[in-house]
Amino acid sequence: MYKHTKLLKVDPEQFCAEELNEACRILLNGGLVAFPTETVYGLGGDALRAEAAEKIYAAKGRPSDNPLIVHIAEKDSLSEVTSEIPEKAKKLMDAFWPGPLTIIFKKCERVPLSTTGGLETVAVRMPVHPVAMELIRSSGVLLAAPSANTSGRPSPTKAEHVMEDLEGRVDMVIDGGPVGIGLESTIIDMTEKTPVILRPGYITKAMLESVIGEVAVDPALLKKPDGHIVAKAPGMKYRHYAPKGSMYIVEGQQENVAERINQLIKEHRDRGERAAVIAAKESESCYPLEIVHCIGSRKNEGSIAAGLYDILRKMDEIGAEYIYAESFREDKLGAAIMNRMLKAAGYQKIYADRSGEERR
Ligand code: AMP
Ligand code: MG
Repeated sequence: MYKHTKLLKVDPEQFCAEELNEACRILLNGGLVAFPTETVYGLGGDALRAEAAEKIYAAKGRPSDNPLIVHIAEKDSLSEVTSEIPEKAKKLMDAFWPGPLTIIFKKCERVPLSTTGGLETVAVRMPVHPVAMELIRSSGVLLAAPSANTSGRPSPTKAEHVMEDLEGRVDMVIDGGPVGIGLESTIIDMTEKTPVILRPGYITKAMLESVIGEVAVDPALLKKPDGHIVAKAPGMKYRHYAPKGSMYIVEGQQENVAERINQLIKEHRDRGERAAVIAAKESESCYPLEIVHCIGSRKNEGSIAAGLYDILRKMDEIGAEYIYAESFREDKLGAAIMNRMLKAAGYQKIYADRSGEERR
């Protein structure tokens, strides 16, 4: 079903609440509004109305068992979605809210199962972005808001990305310019005895542990999922944050990485295939100018996070059939960056320090 999508430009540094009146009306009527947050753009609908959540799943083409995060603008609103707030969760809220941390609680009756994908728990976040904050505050609606992309595509870090995926499928897109962080929030499950990180993000394990002590990490992170998910043809492999081409993460000493990538590129060129390279600023000059894309500087992990999804979308725009990406350190924000890059690559890796065509 096609609907007209209104595009509203708002300057996050300087806007008044009235500019969001129409967006608030749409939300109050059960419609959908995409809006900027500090992590990525979100697709918002009323978290306490089952039909709004269903519209979100339909617009994104998202499987309805994949739960949505509820966005609030004040800590007090938490009592509308949960009646159990563990002490350690309170400490995290004091330390990191508003900000890019999503906390999982036991849900209360009012939260429809369609918002939580059928789970008895609910994920909640208080974003720090002024437009997101004002939208929730002025509308008085708690916003169920997953990333505003078509399911499986890279998350949107600009309003243009949202329009590309969702124009004609949502009521309004608020353009507040490019987001600051560029990776989705860290998710921590506080319903377990030992809190568990379910998704790495800007708030790192060390930051969480400095506030509440021991935190576990979901063992599934950074690893290829067990079972039968095998990366094969482009478009057929495990897809999440994924460009259309077949992507590989190339690991090893920098000179070996560059040598291996250049050799592979030559082979693709000889076969008439279109290949592209994603490299750090420090090493981009190692690759042919016409196919290398700079993701950011190794000296500034934030620049890599902020550039990642835009570059993955660019791979589709240029029609890259094969994509080779340099690898990054997996500590701090690097854990979140590599988690997203490995998923985008369907966990395909090439070890450049070893001989032969070992791919995993
Ligand atoms: P998105 O907002 O698109 O980044 O997606 C929300 C993420 O939060 C998905 O990975 C969900 O699986 C996860 N999530 C939301 N609610 C829960 C929950 N109650 N338990 C576990 N994961 C959740
Ligand atoms: Mg998402």
